[in-house]
Amino acid sequence: MSNALPPRIQETIAGWLRDGEIDVFIGYEAGSVPLRATPVFIRAPEDVGRLIWDATCENNLAAFLSLHRGKRVGIMAKGCDARAIVALMQEGQWTRETLRIVGVACPGVVDPRQVAGALGVAVDELEDVGLDGEQIAGGGRLLPCGDMLYDTCTSCSQHTPAIHDALMGTCDGEDAPLDDAHVRAMEALDADARWDVFSAEMSRCNLCFACRNACPMCYCNQCFVDHTAPRWVNETVEPHDVQFFQIMRTFHLAGRCVGCGACTRACPQGVNLRLFLDKLRLDVAELFGYEAGVDPEAKPPLATYREDDPNDFVIG
Ligand code: SF4
Ligand code: SF4
Ligand code: SF4
Repeated sequence: MSNALPPRIQETIAGWLRDGEIDVFIGYEAGSVPLRATPVFIRAPEDVGRLIWDATCENNLAAFLSLHRGKRVGIMAKGCDARAIVALMQEGQWTRETLRIVGVACPGVVDPRQVAGALGVAVDELEDVGLDGEQIAGGGRLLPCGDMLYDTCTSCSQHTPAIHDALMGTCDGEDAPLDDAHVRAMEALDADARWDVFSAEMSRCNLCFACRNACPMCYCNQCFVDHTAPRWVNETVEPHDVQFFQIMRTFHLAGRCVGCGACTRACPQGVNLRLFLDKLRLDVAELFGYEAGVDPEAKPPLATYREDDPNDFVIG
């Protein structure tokens, strides 16, 4: 089955480029690593044939928007990617007028680690593995794609993007409510046990910053971790440096994380960042009734003021 974009979508993108409505289109093309498509930046109408869509298109392409400030940009967006685009617009980073969005109804993207586990090899030993329609072919076996999806996809709250100028793809999956079972399990632990969970996860982190780089909401021109004067964080793998970075990053994303899972997918060490980010997403939803990227008209809690705010945290 071809994973090229449908002709009508190719023509739409080529038309945007031809007519000067966009300077660049950010999409996916076939990658060199098994089960991973790679981002591509299309600037000429004749190159739209390079674009693909399938269950290996895992990057949240909204992370590349900050590299194109001041341009008019076209972009492919799954449901979770579109939440990031909405959140970026809510934070004044982009306007709808400067974006053209090809939305994709997305059944989910494949987790290469799960495939490797099912085939009994390490993820960097995956060879001659690829999609075959709705299945993954490799090691003489056929695995259903639907059994090999990332956690974020099996509990996806928005398969079809809320905003788009053109829509493609099909998805029968039902949108799930905000997933909380993994967060509630951690909340049920006492403080020492919660710290043990956090410390154990972060003990695998080697401060490669792939999570930050994959995150559409980590768009600061200079990340606090890269400041040298003053120096906020030493970039060592000592537990206190790693934990400080992760705590700072997680709280910096409170009320801003859209739960796309791109950071967790990007982590080469398999750190479960999602657990801690989702804790704050749930807290913000419960305390402020706000989910980042869901309602384009909603005001982020950190950018608004409510006279009836309980202010429980303020020490009088
Ligand atoms: S979270 Fe939803 S929209 Fe995002 S990749 Fe998974 S299934 Fe697709
Ligand atoms: S912190 Fe992770 S889950 Fe949240 S928006 Fe960034 S990449 Fe997505
Ligand atoms: S991607 Fe993983 S290993 Fe790299 S900094 Fe983030 S949590 Fe640490």
